[in-house]
Amino acid sequence: MIRFYTTSAKPFHSDHYYRLVPLIDSCKSMQQIKQTHAQLITTALISHPVSANKLLKLAACASLSYAHKLFDQIPEPDLFIYNTMIKAHSLSPHSCHNSLVVFRSLTRHSGLSPNRYSFVFAFGACGNGLGVQEGEQVHVHAVKVGLVNNVFVVNALIGMYGKWRLVEESQKVFQWAVDRDLYSWNTMIAAYVGSGKMSQAKELFDGMQERDVVSWSTIIAGYVQVGCFMEALEFFHKMLQIGSKPNAYTLVSALVACSNLVALDQGKWIHAYIGRAEIKMNERLLASIVDMYAKCGEIESASRVFLEHKVKQKVWPWNAMIGGFAMHGKPDEAINVFEQMKAEKVSPNKVTFIALLNACSHGYMVEEGKLYFRLMVSDYAIAPEIEHYGCMVDLLGRAGLLEEAEDMISSMPVAPDVAIWGALLNACRIYKDMERGYRIGKIIKDMDPNHIGCHVLLSNIYSTSGRWNEARMLREKNEISSDRKKIPGCSSIELKGTFHQFLVGDRSHPQSREIYSFLDEMTIKLKSAGYVPELGELLHDIYDEEDKETALSVHSEKLAIAFGLMNTAHGTPIRIVKNLRVCGDCHQATKFISKVYNRVIIVRDRTRYHHFKDGFCSCKDYW
Ligand code: ZN
Ligand code: ZN
Repeated sequence: MIRFYTTSAKPFHSDHYYRLVPLIDSCKSMQQIKQTHAQLITTALISHPVSANKLLKLAACASLSYAHKLFDQIPEPDLFIYNTMIKAHSLSPHSCHNSLVVFRSLTRHSGLSPNRYSFVFAFGACGNGLGVQEGEQVHVHAVKVGLVNNVFVVNALIGMYGKWRLVEESQKVFQWAVDRDLYSWNTMIAAYVGSGKMSQAKELFDGMQERDVVSWSTIIAGYVQVGCFMEALEFFHKMLQIGSKPNAYTLVSALVACSNLVALDQGKWIHAYIGRAEIKMNERLLASIVDMYAKCGEIESASRVFLEHKVKQKVWPWNAMIGGFAMHGKPDEAINVFEQMKAEKVSPNKVTFIALLNACSHGYMVEEGKLYFRLMVSDYAIAPEIEHYGCMVDLLGRAGLLEEAEDMISSMPVAPDVAIWGALLNACRIYKDMERGYRIGKIIKDMDPNHIGCHVLLSNIYSTSGRWNEARMLREKNEISSDRKKIPGCSSIELKGTFHQFLVGDRSHPQSREIYSFLDEMTIKLKSAGYVPELGELLHDIYDEEDKETALSVHSEKLAIAFGLMNTAHGTPIRIVKNLRVCGDCHQATKFISKVYNRVIIVRDRTRYHHFKDGFCSCKDYW
């Protein structure tokens, strides 16, 4: 341990200065920093602001506690040194309180005056993990010393209140600011986006005189965050039209939008654009491309892109690939990627195991699932979280091991949530375990009396087993007790870059007449191939998802599929996104359509992803 040199600084020799200062820059390890530090002490250069600040900056990156000790031993730190320390502590949520300790010693004991940087870093610290009270104190201080109108300080204040979701406070600072720059506008938009206030964000964005890639990226990411994927893509196209060049961050958002819309054409275009515009590939971007192809049903393309690119030191692309194989019901391939990842010494994280357990679940690989669940704890010290238990309950439930699934829930160290019980209830519905289903339904009702999914599943269990009266009673009781709004079923399909949306029983589409006569023909064809409409779930579906008056044949996904069949070349896959869960009858009908019309049909519903081919679905009728 080095004794820090504190008192009676002797004058240093300039030769030492010119020899040692470059040496500080060349330090590569903590060991070298300590050696250089010792030399600075023996030559008295530690009291020279330039060398002290240089070493401090370097030490702060390697070890913040070491840097702080160094700081404490500098005889008379100047403002730069104080600011370096305030900044270094502000970056981590664990040490940002130290940032304010240094800030206070600067303002109270140093005899120096804080400058705009001191405030910018202090506000950064407050936003990164301190309370509103501390932030307001610093804010008052900035007013006192007359720096509150400085544009740097203004921007830091907008950002700090934005991080706390105190968007009205951000807005006040923004509106009253004497001086504003592009960064102020961007930070204010980010504050709105962070609070999910997209209409205000858009209003401000529209009013901007000048926009840069950050402005565009922020608004696009905001729309993705609130699930408005079409708006996100609209803004992305506007951005390109005016000639602004997106960066990797913008492209990740646009690709996430494509994945969620199952918009393969646009996703492909973005992938090609990345190559054309020579955007530097990084792991996040690669992961979004892989994810986009997988979610649009093109697992081969996903795998090809994954293999093509070498930027795979971080976990994200691996997770995307494992997740992709999982959703396509290819557990062996998913496990393969995991093994490869181990070989390349990329550490898996909790998301990797969620994907892996999902893969086992989709492949009915109970033993493998159990193995990885154990491995996660023993080899990687990742404590299973509620999502991992959810996967295990799904895995066991899917395999019909309802007893074991229930034991798994009882053995959880964390309290089970409604979703986990819901997964088991769903398994009870599929395996028609009435008694257990009823018991679990009651548990869920006790936890959340207004839980919609539970009532739906329970009423479904009743109706599929013909207990119509109980189902109806439950429905009526629920309608009285809950004031929830009915969400209409809505499906969309992308055709040459344009989205066509269909609501249940929709007749507003220009091709509506053709669609309905096509549907009539289709039903006849399907019936002659052996399709029997599933009335068991009629009650559930009408009750929960689509309008009471409508018949099975006009559910929104059927309209979208018919439209797709009519408007695309024979053999082209059809991709549909539905906002609600696909009902049993539509699922059954789509399986027949895939066979009769010889088409691959990909349906992404609220909870799962279905890949229909030759009369079968990748979910193996479990969803
Ligand atoms: Zn349906
Ligand atoms: Zn399915």
